[in-house]
Amino acid sequence: MSRLGVVCGGSRGIGRAVAQLLAQKGHRVVVVSRNQEAALGTAESLPGVAHVGLSCDVSREHDVQSVFETITSTCGPVDYLVNAAGIIRDALLLRSKSEDIGSVLHTNLLGSMLTCKAALRSMLSKGGAIVNIGSLVGMKGNAGQCAYSASKAGLEGFSRSLAKEVASRSIRVNLVAPGLIQTDMTAGLREEDERRRIPLGRFGQPEEVAQAVLFLLETPYVTGQVLLVDGGLHLAL
Ligand code: NDP
Repeated sequence: MSRLGVVCGGSRGIGRAVAQLLAQKGHRVVVVSRNQEAALGTAESLPGVAHVGLSCDVSREHDVQSVFETITSTCGPVDYLVNAAGIIRDALLLRSKSEDIGSVLHTNLLGSMLTCKAALRSMLSKGGAIVNIGSLVGMKGNAGQCAYSASKAGLEGFSRSLAKEVASRSIRVNLVAPGLIQTDMTAGLREEDERRRIPLGRFGQPEEVAQAVLFLLETPYVTGQVLLVDGGLHLAL
């Protein structure tokens, strides 16, 4: 059965791979990112039925409300929501600017809470599934990533709480926690330096995270779960 899936942060990286996999499985996809052209470009590149690309800054409540109104009025109620929009502003806490800390928390944590709230309005009467993209760093911590790891740890607690709040409405909420995945976000890291720490010996590909996201979206008896997709890196930390 074809579903409507909204992928926030779907223009690039992990979100784009999720959008591609959903489209390959025959679902309709709405790609959301700040850059309208990039969202549209990704939506147009997807296989299958007509997909949609929309601009929205998930950290802004007004943007989120208005984009979800557009989605429900033009595409119908949302079945799947994937929150892959995320940013990093790495620095030791002592050197971090409060604006950067705020941007990270607002995009990665508040942004996902706002999109969940907006999507739930569609899901309350008919059920649905949400996957938030957390991070291994949210569980283990990482020097230089205090704000980022706090945002991802918060997202994990949020996902579990929301899973409890909405389970009676047949809405499932799960979280995928990637390790090091080859995207723009990790372009500054040298794989040769990092891969020695990773038991599987390499960075993950966005498509490998997308497989885990699809599993959680489409597996009807799983909620409140955290699924690490990290090549075993958690074993080494
Ligand atoms: P990318 O930088 O490749 O892509 C980020 C996506 O988020 C883009 O589509 C970007 O589009 C969008 N985005 C960023 N800020 C906003 C915003 N305020 N509103 C709407 N969209 C936004 O990142 P990845 O694909 O690597 O990361 C995806 C998710 O996975 C993130 O949450 C990240 O924290 C998480 N993650 C990634 C890991 C990795 O190793 N790559 C490891 C662990 C977790 P635009 O700029 O146009 O808005």
